[in-house]
Amino acid sequence: MKFKISRSAEDIVVYQPGKPVEELERELGISESIKLASNENPLGPSPKGLEAVRKALSGVHRYPDGGGFYLKRRLAEFHGMAPENFTIGNGTNEVLESIAHAFLDPGDPVVFSEGAFIVYLIVSQLSNCEIRTAPMRDYTHDLEAMAGLVCERTKAVFIANPNNPTGTAVGEGALRRFIETLSGETLVVVDEAYSQYAHREDYPDASKLFAEYPNLIALRTFSKAYGLAGLRVGYGIAHPDIIEVINKVREPFNVNSLALAAAEAALGDEEHVSRSVVVNAEGREFFVREFAALGIPFVPTQGNFIMAEVGDGMKIYEGLLREGVIVRQVGGYGFPGHVRISIGTTEENRRVIDSLALLLGK
Ligand SMILES: *Cc1c(COP(=O)(O)O)cnc(C)c1O
Repeated sequence: MKFKISRSAEDIVVYQPGKPVEELERELGISESIKLASNENPLGPSPKGLEAVRKALSGVHRYPDGGGFYLKRRLAEFHGMAPENFTIGNGTNEVLESIAHAFLDPGDPVVFSEGAFIVYLIVSQLSNCEIRTAPMRDYTHDLEAMAGLVCERTKAVFIANPNNPTGTAVGEGALRRFIETLSGETLVVVDEAYSQYAHREDYPDASKLFAEYPNLIALRTFSKAYGLAGLRVGYGIAHPDIIEVINKVREPFNVNSLALAAAEAALGDEEHVSRSVVVNAEGREFFVREFAALGIPFVPTQGNFIMAEVGDGMKIYEGLLREGVIVRQVGGYGFPGHVRISIGTTEENRRVIDSLALLLGK
């Protein structure tokens, strides 16, 4: 190739998605494998969302509503806010990218944890930012250490709460103290992709905090509890001044019409969300019990996934693949001795435990 590629493309770490079931079965010539690798909803999509997709199908010759009018109106009602407080993206991932386009210039310092969700690193690299990462403490964001990395010029800090892949969450007091150490010129991105699953009592609802901290944007997604990962819809909640800039830089028709319809309907599907949360809590307790019984150390989780310490993470990941069980290898996050397991159905959870016990000789 004769062209010189951009500096950001040269440096960028590549996002490693969970392996699709079809790919594994094709490669190994096996069947009946299971995927617990992408924190997807084991109960499937919201039935109301699915019904809305069916209805919207006949309209796909039209461009989608570029402003997302109906979804924003519904979100405003759901959260008790105004439509101007919302920006919608092709997944939260796209909202993160739009935040980078809107606010990050080359050389701008940004701060996050070493073990934070990898997309913060990717969008910061795309913007050629100066990246400062703080080691975690007990697999949790060390907000004090992060505050120590912030300087006058720091443009953004990123906090996944709960964090992926560690599953840990920070409490409201610590989050507020951290935000209060920052100047109002540092954007605080609080990614609440797993908020529905978080169960610690002092879990902060960042979607409400922009009223007090106008430099804060909370992110939510339809990919996890609502079960719409394949449709790609996520959103940001912030002061209208922040939302306006993000809307200016996002692509004109960034969210497709099926996704808009599904998300709007899924937001009213409280039954699906609460059932998903209950099934997840049961699965979480199952893993905690089984890991304890097998003597496998794990990181207590606030999410719909759990990180277990298995010795050689890559070896166990590959061994599980041969058993037809896809989990996530997390060496790239700095946890080479762990695997991350999405919490699935009762049968799926049982199967991953049985396969792990077999591989670990327990
Ligand atoms: C899964 C996940 C998301 C959601 O991403 P989408 O692009 O909305 O699918 C966002 N943040 C974190 C930390 C996640 O793990």
